[in-house]
Amino acid sequence: MDTGNPTIALEPDDFDISQVLSLTTPLWVFDIDRSCVVWANNAAVELWHAADHEALYARDMGADMSATIAERLRQYQSDFISSNQEFSEVWTLYPNGHPHTYRVMFRGYALPDGRMGMLCEAKAEEQEPPDKLRSAEALNHIPVCISLYGHNNSPLYTNAAARTIYGSSTLSLQDRFVHPCDYDRLLRDLKAQSQTTIISQVWTQEGVRWHEISARHCHDAVSGNPAYILSEVDVTELKDNEHKVRYLAHHDTLTGLYNRNYVQLAFPDLLANAGQSGLNMAMILIDLDKFKTINDTLGHASGDKLLTHVAQVLEAKIGTNGHIARLGGDEFIILTPLRDRDELNRLCEHLLEDISTECLIGDHRLNSQASIGVSIFPDHGKDLMTLMRHADLALYDSKDRGRNTFSFFRPALQMAILQQRSLERDLIQAAQRKEFLLYYQPRICCRTNQVHSVEALLRWEHPQRGLLAPGHFVDSLEETGLIHEVGAWIVEQVGHDQRSLVIAGFDLPISINISPKQFDDNDFINVLLGALERSQCPADRIELEITESMLMGKGFDSKQALKALQVEGFTIAIDDFGTGYSNLAYIQDYPISCLKIDRSFIEAIDKQSPVLNLILSLCKLANITAVAEGVETPEQLNWLKQNECDQFQGYLYSRPVPLMALKKLLLNPPHQVFPFAPGHSLARSGHDQANNLRAVLDAPLDTLLERAARLRNNQGL
Ligand code: C2E
Ligand code: MG
Ligand code: MG
Repeated sequence: MDTGNPTIALEPDDFDISQVLSLTTPLWVFDIDRSCVVWANNAAVELWHAADHEALYARDMGADMSATIAERLRQYQSDFISSNQEFSEVWTLYPNGHPHTYRVMFRGYALPDGRMGMLCEAKAEEQEPPDKLRSAEALNHIPVCISLYGHNNSPLYTNAAARTIYGSSTLSLQDRFVHPCDYDRLLRDLKAQSQTTIISQVWTQEGVRWHEISARHCHDAVSGNPAYILSEVDVTELKDNEHKVRYLAHHDTLTGLYNRNYVQLAFPDLLANAGQSGLNMAMILIDLDKFKTINDTLGHASGDKLLTHVAQVLEAKIGTNGHIARLGGDEFIILTPLRDRDELNRLCEHLLEDISTECLIGDHRLNSQASIGVSIFPDHGKDLMTLMRHADLALYDSKDRGRNTFSFFRPALQMAILQQRSLERDLIQAAQRKEFLLYYQPRICCRTNQVHSVEALLRWEHPQRGLLAPGHFVDSLEETGLIHEVGAWIVEQVGHDQRSLVIAGFDLPISINISPKQFDDNDFINVLLGALERSQCPADRIELEITESMLMGKGFDSKQALKALQVEGFTIAIDDFGTGYSNLAYIQDYPISCLKIDRSFIEAIDKQSPVLNLILSLCKLANITAVAEGVETPEQLNWLKQNECDQFQGYLYSRPVPLMALKKLLLNPPHQVFPFAPGHSLARSGHDQANNLRAVLDAPLDTLLERAARLRNNQGL
């Protein structure tokens, strides 16, 4: 095919043209840019199976040239320009479509117009065995980089792929590596063994890439000198993925903190290093209090936001001074160097403070709280498992001590925990052995001093440990699901006891505490009605005490459930008001007849009086009975009477007592504890009261509640 290439009259200075023309070795000059032969000797015309020189010059060599070969020729061109190199390779040429194999020597050759061409010399060598030829051909085509290096670090051979990737075939082996230590490692390995594979970062035309480099000893086929042969593949993508996978394997996706895997992998080394340097370390285990309630009531999305918030709080506090991980759920762990105990105490106090600062999760302002358990390396354990177990025991202790606090491990804890575990085992048999019983605590009308009703409080007569209050076992009852069985028994027993009180002349309503687990049970109302039917107690003599969080349960329509209970005659009270979301607007929407204000408000009545006043006013407004819990002193009762609280309950009047004792108490009420005569009320001045009520009426509920929350947080302004 005539390509229209101008025939260049070449007269190379370095050889006699007539001699060259008659040489038996085929020689030709190739114009790389135009893919055509621009000069050839007679032997070359014959090699290319051309009719004559002109026919060869007119041939378009690029027509059936593969992209790889074209690319390689470009690479040769730039190598010739940069370093005047020569290449000797076995090539299979296809003159007129017939394959012929030659060893071809390529040299740079400056064309008359200044561009770089290529002088090619095909050596009429002995025919290579077919496999060798094919492998030589394959070497030029494969995308794997193949290079041969002498032991002096200089390149002996680079295949096309290697030249394309590295941009030069003269680069020393050492200069390929981004990190010299990788080169050292490669040589070190090759000194010790016949072959090695390393993954390292190398400088390429495309920038820094990850290569998997396999290297082995060989000999240079030309000089016979020892050499290294290297094959390389680009594994950058794999490496990036590996990085991502490793990140995921070691991090918690929600919070970005380390995860349990990382703790198990890295913490032992951190501890070992600390041991070698003679350092003490503190292992701090953090568990959020009542996180499950938040998850159950506000939904998992809010729960997740809270966890992320806590993670940020921990990171802000610890910074680079330790390792923080989320072990799962609402449990976090910190490993930090320990200088002295005072500092550690302060750190734990600050952590509790920071976690409990109010945060906005969706529309809800939450004050999350946490319990902390601490173990110390090496005093409390030298290995990760022991330290974690001991921190866990300390955490258990914090929870036992009322939560929102921290404990250090001490050997005595181990015994206490063992006892708790055995208690849990005993619980399973407690119901069968009829070890549960009910105590009753009266609820008194502030105005008349008369017993209005009684609250049933569960007790466990443990064979070895004596009478136990619910704090020791209610959580376990809930966790094991035993609460359903025990709960049904309580209702039936309360029904019987109510009838028994009627017979004794006291037709008092009885309040029963209902756990969230019972309330969640779809069959709950039938369980209640069945038990009451057996004991012949009407439902309107029973009040059900539920917690604020149960109102916000997500799983079902709690308003509907409460309405159904109300229709049957039950009355509903909110227990421990003020410890949850304290959302009175919510409560107004539900068929609630009574609000039991948590003992913590009564305990701190001086500081909490503005909030208490607000709650009392709101109860009045919403026509809900306000009950003060945990009244222990005449002063507290005095205040409640003055501020028109409806009812109270507490040790001041009576502790919870068995049914028999209750009957006696009802017959002989303890009048002496009352500072005022029955029916006498020391209300605040009419002016104060009117002002307060007007403020309540004028302000929207939300504003009032926010004020109440602020007041609570500021502990009485
Ligand atoms: P609660 O329903 O708020 O019951 C009041 C708790 O405060 C009772 O503790 C009572 O003994 C205690 N108390 C009453 N007056 C005073 C006082 O003046 N000062 C102090 N310091 N404490 C006072 P108890 O009996 O240990 O019950 C604790 C909690 O266990 C109850 O709190 C209730 O939430 C739960 N509980 C009790 N009985 C049952 C039950 O039958 N079922 C369920 N699910 N939970 C129950
Ligand atoms: Mg209660
Ligand atoms: Mg209560």
